[in-house]
Amino acid sequence: MADLIFARSLSRLGTESAFDVLARAQKLAASGRDIINLGIGQPDFATPAHIVEAGIKALRDGHHGYTPAGGLPALREAVTRDLHRRHGVEVHPDTVVIQPGGKPTMFFAVLMFGEPGAEILYPNPGFPIYESVIRYSGATPVPFALQEQNGFAFSAEDVLSKITPATRLLIINSPANPTGGVTPKEEIDRLVAGLGAHPHVALMSDEIYSNMLYGGRRHVSLLQYPEIRDRLIMLDGWSKTYAMTGWRLGYAVWPEACVDAVTRLCINDHSCVNAATQFAGIAALDGPQDAVREMVAAFDQRRKVIVERLNALPGMRCADAAGAFYVFPNIEGTGMSARQAQDRLLDEAGVATVAGTSFGAWGEGYLRFSYANSLEKIEEAMARIAEVL
Ligand code: PLP
Repeated sequence: MADLIFARSLSRLGTESAFDVLARAQKLAASGRDIINLGIGQPDFATPAHIVEAGIKALRDGHHGYTPAGGLPALREAVTRDLHRRHGVEVHPDTVVIQPGGKPTMFFAVLMFGEPGAEILYPNPGFPIYESVIRYSGATPVPFALQEQNGFAFSAEDVLSKITPATRLLIINSPANPTGGVTPKEEIDRLVAGLGAHPHVALMSDEIYSNMLYGGRRHVSLLQYPEIRDRLIMLDGWSKTYAMTGWRLGYAVWPEACVDAVTRLCINDHSCVNAATQFAGIAALDGPQDAVREMVAAFDQRRKVIVERLNALPGMRCADAAGAFYVFPNIEGTGMSARQAQDRLLDEAGVATVAGTSFGAWGEGYLRFSYANSLEKIEEAMARIAEVL
């Protein structure tokens, strides 16, 4: 019998329970239950055909080998063109590092700055991997609250008040998972101005939902603030915008001073992203954007419907989420905890959602609904939930 002795650090590594909910929902579906999945954080659209073709062509053309660790130069240049088009900023391709998805950027950023004694600030409720990898690194996780009454935007004053001499890294995310909240420009201006007094703090801005804003809002990228470029890690990628979650492709723009270290992390971890996916990534950025516009328009339509339907349910109150493809209704009026509501809706209504507490302790009293599902399914899910409630 093996008697394995694991590293202590392993016990500090968390997870993303949306994947557990997905597994439970799939198991129920396999047993014959009709499950509507409003739990998963990925577009329900296929990757646009011209992007798929570019990946296939790359394989046929013989692109089967390693690429530079930081990504193909042509892809890094395509990223800079896209950033110029969308955010009006100039970025040097050498500071763009391609990754297998958005997640490795957050892992590497936290590994680069996190160690015992260091503090890392992150949103709560927020993407669960932030807290998980901060703990794994040995650093102290310092949450700042995202509150319903602020439209789930962060408060710059609150964030800045939590900075100490031990703070190494601040993580922000707008549009946000799980709330769909978008932090307004004035608040971002205040944060950036306040960071001037804390030159020891690096900033990771997770902008993976930067293409998904509604109601005429425009995305504010932290790249638009030259005064923090030398400490900004701006994360974005293809997963959400181009419905490419399974391809594993993401990137970040890094401060020049970090590029060497993050490239070494890539070499130690995965060498490079598979070549064909990188060619698909070029086609995505340089090709027509109609499919993105159509997908975002469909999300917007569903968003309006789900917000209206949730607000009509007894015990639920749903803010008008401005971005991403999530809503985060307050469920306190149902008398259930977040976890109870998640379990009952799955077991009794056959609707998969994710408990707010999966995104941090301050998500109690909320449920995350993803509206990456068809309008009919959303309508049916709401009818079934109404029956259970
Ligand atoms: N950042 C946020 C806020 C997310 O919600 C997600 C995925 O759900 C990611 C990053 C990671 O995306 P990827 O699948 O590209 O690793």
